[in-house]
Amino acid sequence: MNPAAATLLVVDDDAMNRDVLSRRLVRNGYKVLTAESGARALELVNEHRFDAVLLDVRMPGMGGIETLQRLRQSRSMSELPIIMVTANSSSDDVVQALGFGANDYVTKPIDFPIALARIKTHVTARRADPLTGLPNRTIFMDQLDRLIGRPHDRKHGTFAVYFVDIDRFKLINDSLGHLAGDEVVVGVARRLEDALRSADARLGSEHALARPGGDEFTILLDGLADAAEAREVGDLLVEAIGVPFAVRGRTIHVSISVGVVIAAHRYTGGGEMLRDADMAMYRAKSLGKARCEVFDVSMLALVERRLRIETDLRHALARHELSVYYQPIIELSGGQLQGFEALLRWHHPMLGVVSPGEFMPIAEETGEIVPIGQWVLREACRQLSAWDEEFALQPRLTINVNLSARQCMQPNLVSVVKRVLTETNLSPERLKVEITEGDVLQNCEAMESILNRLRALGVQLQLDEFGVGYTALSYLQRFPFHTIKIDRSFVAAMKERGNTETIRAIVALAGALKMGVAAEGVETAEQLKDLQSLACEFGQGFYFNKPLTLEEARQVLQAGSLGSQRDGRINSGSA
Ligand code: C2E
Ligand code: CA
Ligand code: CA
Repeated sequence: MNPAAATLLVVDDDAMNRDVLSRRLVRNGYKVLTAESGARALELVNEHRFDAVLLDVRMPGMGGIETLQRLRQSRSMSELPIIMVTANSSSDDVVQALGFGANDYVTKPIDFPIALARIKTHVTARRADPLTGLPNRTIFMDQLDRLIGRPHDRKHGTFAVYFVDIDRFKLINDSLGHLAGDEVVVGVARRLEDALRSADARLGSEHALARPGGDEFTILLDGLADAAEAREVGDLLVEAIGVPFAVRGRTIHVSISVGVVIAAHRYTGGGEMLRDADMAMYRAKSLGKARCEVFDVSMLALVERRLRIETDLRHALARHELSVYYQPIIELSGGQLQGFEALLRWHHPMLGVVSPGEFMPIAEETGEIVPIGQWVLREACRQLSAWDEEFALQPRLTINVNLSARQCMQPNLVSVVKRVLTETNLSPERLKVEITEGDVLQNCEAMESILNRLRALGVQLQLDEFGVGYTALSYLQRFPFHTIKIDRSFVAAMKERGNTETIRAIVALAGALKMGVAAEGVETAEQLKDLQSLACEFGQGFYFNKPLTLEEARQVLQAGSLGSQRDGRINSGSA
């Protein structure tokens, strides 16, 4: 660990001693605050986070031993390393201090090399997380287990365990770089700490915040009235992170998902509580992120559902439970049907229709996406080719097929695409593959070469969900996309707040880079009008059509071939 990040508190009534000691420590890279009395020390530890305290035993008024006892009474201070500073001769003091929970001692006159080595040992042991300076998982679990095991030590009311996870952290890391990612973690840690401090002041509660790793934080909050209060604090945490961060000269929006569980008799250990808080956090994520959810036992059913989906997905293809739906894509200035996006549907025999939003992430994790994705590609291309023969529409329709990160990383992807195109007798430019910004960023180098090979094949490339990440469009210049698909959240924002600036900027930049622009999630006539006036070329959405079954899509084509289609709206179908 780098001791430079550590803050020490020096408590001594003698100004000279304080001065000499703190100078030496500062010269060795520590940050130091000083207190001239035990009372002042107790104030300071409530206002700052220290990594260790150097506490003089002999002080007038509240002595070192009493200060030590008071510090140890407070739970958030129970793990703080306290090193006693004693006069050379008094072994009684040392024995007594260690009995009251001091971690170590040094004797006066202080032998600095030894003192520094001891301080470093304690600070390092405590702060396994050098980035934020927060306690690590082990310390947190110790605290939690102790609290569960010793009900009499608790404050009034009840306590809660929170599990906090930064939303889309990988995307932040991938688009802004790891250093910026680290800054975000540190910034989030600070805000959580501040919010918890003010919650404590208001509710009389007591908190302990830890960082078990990555983009996760755990919190123990004791002295809450009830579950409602626990949720209230959770909402405050979400709100505190909602204020934009300034990172490396940029403004970035960060959000967290929070799960919270309230103490209950059934819990016999901290691990169980943390597991349930984690589950509640996952629930918060699946409900759209940037929110807090309180654990309840019904969430166990959701975990079962996930397991069932994971298991049954393996047989879905073989059992013919999958089908491809087709959502029309419209050329916005003329209202002409330009093509379809192929979207997967799963009709589960017991669960009914399971949305790809739910099962695709699982398929991606398990690898099931690979055979399923190939099937979608083949099916969609085959269909387009069949429609060619049946309707002979001009200009030729295109088919958009989504490719996930894992699909793109298949070594034989390009040859599979080539084979499917040959088999289905489609010229390559009629296939548009959609790849999300997040997936592109996950593995830039490999993606770049795959995209170039697909492009060389003649396939069209579309960047999906653009704008969700933080990448400047100019950076994406290195990737050979033909079109950018503006994420539906921007289209929705346009409706709610009349905010067209983001889309205007994307269209302008895309124009400069000679890329086309499409928009998804068009739901109203106003949005269509705005997009048209912004010169967005293509659009899809419920305003035109939901994703359609094969039969419904045929009806649309039939109507199109009879010329009965008005302003791009096609009055059939549902999904
Ligand atoms: P996506 O690529 O962003 O697909 C667009 C999603 O927006 C679809 O959700 C579509 O039904 C929905 N949508 C269309 N119009 C509107 C609208 O006007 N308003 C709103 N609110 N939503 C609209 P869907 O079909 O549930 O698919 C979800 C995601 O699952 C897709 O997002 C895509 O990432 C993934 N997915 C679906 N099929 C496939 C596939 O065959 N392969 C791969 N790799 N991913 C797929
Ligand atoms: Ca898509
Ligand atoms: Ca999309």
